[in-house]
Amino acid sequence: MPSAAPILCDLDGVVWLMHQPIAGSVNAIESLRQAGHRVLFVTNNSFSIVADQENALSKIGIDAHNDVVTSSQAAGSLLRKGERVLLGGGPGAVEAIENAGAILSGRSDEHAHGDSAIHKMNSETNQETDQGFDVVMVGYHATFDYRGLTMLSNAVRDGARLIATNDDATYPTPHGLIPGGGSILAAVSAACGVEAIIAGKPHKPMADLVRKVLGVDDLSNAWMVGDRPSTDGLFAQTVGCKFAQVLTGISSVDDSSNVANRQADVFADLASFAKMIVGS
Ligand SMILES: [Mg+2]
Repeated sequence: MPSAAPILCDLDGVVWLMHQPIAGSVNAIESLRQAGHRVLFVTNNSFSIVADQENALSKIGIDAHNDVVTSSQAAGSLLRKGERVLLGGGPGAVEAIENAGAILSGRSDEHAHGDSAIHKMNSETNQETDQGFDVVMVGYHATFDYRGLTMLSNAVRDGARLIATNDDATYPTPHGLIPGGGSILAAVSAACGVEAIIAGKPHKPMADLVRKVLGVDDLSNAWMVGDRPSTDGLFAQTVGCKFAQVLTGISSVDDSSNVANRQADVFADLASFAKMIVGS
């Protein structure tokens, strides 16, 4: 059944919490695939490189090779070849910058990485960091600090485009919420007075990336399955597909007044959604 509707599936709070599988989710993915549905994992996690996300899924029994798209990849799609990027973000963003043919010219948390890798890269490409930056990219990184905030906001004030992987204020863990990349972005935006171009769900760059990966323009028969109406629900609107909200991640309390919430089909978990789709 190659024409079965594509399923766009969030990871955190739907398939797993911090790589711990949510009950029934692995079998649910398997049953959707057996029924002919392409399942594409669409995550705002910008920190991990794609292979790490695929490997983590493989460890819980889900083969996800070429089936993961991240907010870092969506941010990378906004870069042009040769652009000099100052990054406040993690390995996933580094990978996206390199894949875009852009240049990682500086890191706002370089004290946490050592300067040598950056200097090596600059000498290879004959780029001088003191010529400034074309782009400031911001994503989740636990090494964020005041010095980094100063670097990032100054570079934007000096004319660099501000691109964010995503704007999620929080990130779910088994022990509760922690600040997400959106909280870091809020600090940078406040410090430089510039609104970022945001790549991840629910924004358009991620929707464009999903269409490109699936090779499908019209996704009106597709489903977006997610735990967050404010990102996954609005993303379904951006893509033009249906939204299935599951209750296994961040509860809808944080955005219960959201318009998207009232338009959702609500399921207890991914397993219940798959049961409805597969019809067993
Ligand atoms: Mg989620």
